[in-house]
Amino acid sequence: MNEKDLEINCLKSTQILSDSIDGYATQQEITQLTEHLKHCNYCKIARNQFSTIFEQIKLLFENHHIG
Ligand SMILES: [Zn+2]
Repeated sequence: MNEKDLEINCLKSTQILSDSIDGYATQQEITQLTEHLKHCNYCKIARNQFSTIFEQIKLLFENHHIG
């Protein structure tokens, strides 16, 4: 695998982000996402917001005994 294989755009990055939270992202996608987050501040912010939102959803479900 060379450097070029790890390059993804911001749209792809957020898709992987969402997949990884659901547990569907592949190891290669996780690597691509990690590489992307090293140099993209927008996606770093997006990742933080994603995890905050998903934490809140989890808490909501737990508090209401759903799922
Ligand atoms: Zn990005």
